[in-house]
Amino acid sequence: MSFVESYSADWVKIYFTLNFSLLTLGAAELGFINDAMLALEINTKCIYFHRVDPKVIKGRVHYARIFKEGDNTCQANGLGYLRPDGASGVTMQTIKLGKNCFPNSYGKAAHEMMHALGFPHEQVRPDRDSYVSVAPESSFKTKNDFYQFEKRKYGQYIMSNTFFKENPYDFYSIMHYSLDDPTHFFLKNTAKSTKTILLKEMFKSKVKTMFVGQRSSLTCGDIKKLNFVYGDCKNKPKSELKSASSSRLKVSCPNTKTG
Ligand SMILES: [Zn+2]
Repeated sequence: MSFVESYSADWVKIYFTLNFSLLTLGAAELGFINDAMLALEINTKCIYFHRVDPKVIKGRVHYARIFKEGDNTCQANGLGYLRPDGASGVTMQTIKLGKNCFPNSYGKAAHEMMHALGFPHEQVRPDRDSYVSVAPESSFKTKNDFYQFEKRKYGQYIMSNTFFKENPYDFYSIMHYSLDDPTHFFLKNTAKSTKTILLKEMFKSKVKTMFVGQRSSLTCGDIKKLNFVYGDCKNKPKSELKSASSSRLKVSCPNTKTG
């Protein structure tokens, strides 16, 4: 499921709120939050961010609430549209971004936003076994740690069968985890030789390992996936975001038109 339950408009409005807890972040971090949304917006045909005031939200609105909960928490709850909770009909995605979620780039923030938009980690794709091997479940510290790597089924989330035909596995996707987990955060065994993800033999010489798990920029593969799910719009309105960094954030991709 994508972020919105259904839509037929010329563009897909992603409602969001910025919580006051973000005011404790610095100007650079707030700039990266803006850049993450701006990158998702300017590189896609339909996605359009619209800021709403949480005090006036009523009726059947689904929105993303961006806030801070501790310095190290970078997290989105759930993938895509969440069913209305209670009588109000208002539903929301939460995106938590602490001060350490900005490794000098907008990438981690965009990663969490792509979760909210419905995208799982690249390494959980049902076809991933042809590209990478993942450590067995028994080697992970907890069930929840393993969940970040657990292979999903065809048809789950936004991953229809046609999705895979159109969108090949992308080692450099902003949604992929890195091959080296220097803190061994997920695994019981903290020896340096243990890895969560390994490349399949045939890709070892082809893939630039240091860019697997990168959080510098959306890839052309990420942009194609976003356009695949969110469609082909022609009349997207002018951005409401601060757009000074637009030209720097624009990704140039071969043979694709982005709006
Ligand atoms: Zn993630």
